[in-house]
Amino acid sequence: MKFVPRKPKEGVNVSKEHPLVEAGTLIVGLGFIFATIALALIFMVEIALYFVPVEKEAALFKNWLPEDIATVSPNDARLEKLESLLWRLARHFPESPYDFRIEIDDSEYMNAMALPGGLIIVTAGLLEKVATENELAFILGHEMGHFKNRDHIRALGRGVVLSLMFAAISGSGAGSDLGATIADITLRGFSRRQEVSADAFGLALVEQEYGHVAESWRFFERIDEGDDEFLEFVTYLSTHPSPDDRVATLINNAAENGWSISGETIPIEW
Ligand SMILES: [Zn+2]
Repeated sequence: MKFVPRKPKEGVNVSKEHPLVEAGTLIVGLGFIFATIALALIFMVEIALYFVPVEKEAALFKNWLPEDIATVSPNDARLEKLESLLWRLARHFPESPYDFRIEIDDSEYMNAMALPGGLIIVTAGLLEKVATENELAFILGHEMGHFKNRDHIRALGRGVVLSLMFAAISGSGAGSDLGATIADITLRGFSRRQEVSADAFGLALVEQEYGHVAESWRFFERIDEGDDEFLEFVTYLSTHPSPDDRVATLINNAAENGWSISGETIPIEW
């Protein structure tokens, strides 16, 4: 039998699918692969961080200051008051390995953040809105709760992975704005569960310092009545329809522990 070469049929390499459908499938597929890799890496980093002793973190970031995200005002006269309040609260958290530090960022937005190594940054915008030391103590105590639960370091792990993935996809250098990305994700990365837990910790510190928790949450009620947003709690609000719920949870928490919700408060004058 003789082999007769034949021309292949026209369009043998052309898919029956519309090219746009094919492109879509490819993009969705690649996206899915990247998302899977990112999730796997995040999971691995979370596990790895679990094994990084908190003492190591505290030592590593001892003098660290993320100047790319915060314009720190070292000569702000309010700093002294903030430091003394923070250190008073820290006495009720003696098992902490951190030497807590606090800095003021000159931003007009209300925000507070917990950063690696025990650094708390509060914004000038926030300080302008606090009316009592008790409110401020609760906000600082809440941040200390994030350190206690190591939420900030989990968010950091997530930030590192996501910014590296982003750099891999976009082909840009990872180093340049890694710090900013880490900080950005650290700010947005807390879940509602983490916030509730940090609240409970902060409230306990306030109770130990003042012997009552009066006005601790007054700050939230007040900003809730206005137009401003407290950035630290955006995730909390975005995952729950009613901001009142946070205050209700705090009042419940106080009742369960038998903590007084009335008592003398200390007005703040800067
Ligand atoms: Zn928080």
